[in-house]
Amino acid sequence: MTTVKAYGAVNATDPLVPMTVERREVGPHDVLIDIGYAGICHSDIHTIRAEWGPITYPQVVGHEIVGHVVEVGSDVTKHKVGDLVGVGCQSNSCRTCAQCQQGHDQYCLAGNTQTYGSVDTDGTITQGGYSEAVVTNEDYVLGIPDGLDPAKTAPLLCAGITTYSPLKHWNAGPGVRVGIVGMGGLGHMGVKLAVALGADVTVLSRGTRKREDALSFGANAYVDTTDSEAMDRVRGSFDLLINTVSAGLDITTYLDLLDVDGALVNVGAPEQPFSVPAFSLIPARRTLAGSTTGGIPEIQEMLEFCAQRGIHPETELISVDQINEAWQRVLSADVRYRFVIDTKTFS
Ligand code: NAP
Ligand code: ZN
Ligand code: ZN
Repeated sequence: MTTVKAYGAVNATDPLVPMTVERREVGPHDVLIDIGYAGICHSDIHTIRAEWGPITYPQVVGHEIVGHVVEVGSDVTKHKVGDLVGVGCQSNSCRTCAQCQQGHDQYCLAGNTQTYGSVDTDGTITQGGYSEAVVTNEDYVLGIPDGLDPAKTAPLLCAGITTYSPLKHWNAGPGVRVGIVGMGGLGHMGVKLAVALGADVTVLSRGTRKREDALSFGANAYVDTTDSEAMDRVRGSFDLLINTVSAGLDITTYLDLLDVDGALVNVGAPEQPFSVPAFSLIPARRTLAGSTTGGIPEIQEMLEFCAQRGIHPETELISVDQINEAWQRVLSADVRYRFVIDTKTFS
């Protein structure tokens, strides 16, 4: 076991504090990663605040991890010392179920092992990337392609794949009218990826503060969701809406924006349930769906896509001692558009 510095929570309400976590011995198929960068996802906050249910403390979160391999187990073939690699939301899965067999480990029927907050095979609770180092099975470690800036790549491991996967699944591309609801960490990646896939992209965001940014990311249009007339004008006009909002939402308002056969795919994960009237769906054969992250092969595909197309998240690099302040700014939607922790600032 190796003891590494980390930043984590001791309960649901207090600020995060410096702590240490134990990383397991490097097994035959494990790699030890010296973490360089860790993104801050809103899921980290939902988890620690116990908004998705009770958790065990202390808990270190972070599932957007980029770093260098510093040690490999005796049987590792996929990565070597010195490689720039990443770890996302899943750190293991059963590998044998119908979903794992298709590379959809995010939907593992046995329940995958999340990078934080899951019970690991040794009975310990997995601890995430707000730390100096992590030990991960080689099959759940992504290679970071040349051409991606290491300091800006971590958010692709969750925000990037969580929007890329539904965009691909619902065939976002030329002629498809895509709306991205909420433009935070996930939302801004959704815009950039949908634009790169050739879709006709509209951003739906509160107020007008993010309008210029949305257009600069390549969106064709912007709708202020607090302007009821502007919302009325786009009723029935979308094929695909990706909802990335972290809070409860009047889902009916957004279902009404879909054309016949349109789909609203929810990736935002508020603690409150949605209320869905049957007649928001029935008269236009609409679909309300959900989606989570992406499987390891699809994450690798998305990383290659971003490297080839020069797609990077918009990031603000912070030191470890700024994490609590950054969380407050995420909660007040004052993030442009993803905080990345420089994990070399652990002192
Ligand atoms: P984020 O950066 O905080 O962005 C969330 C956005 O939601 C904000 O920028 C804001 O957009 C909008 N918003 C926030 N509060 C709102 C409110 N009260 N009413 C209406 N809109 C509000 O969060 P994120 O990291 O992108 O994550 C977004 C959500 O996706 C979270 O719930 C997270 O847990 C979830 N998530 C799910 C998955 C998955 O696998 N499905 C993966 C990662 C994250 P505007 O200012 O533009 O309106
Ligand atoms: Zn996430
Ligand atoms: Zn499985």
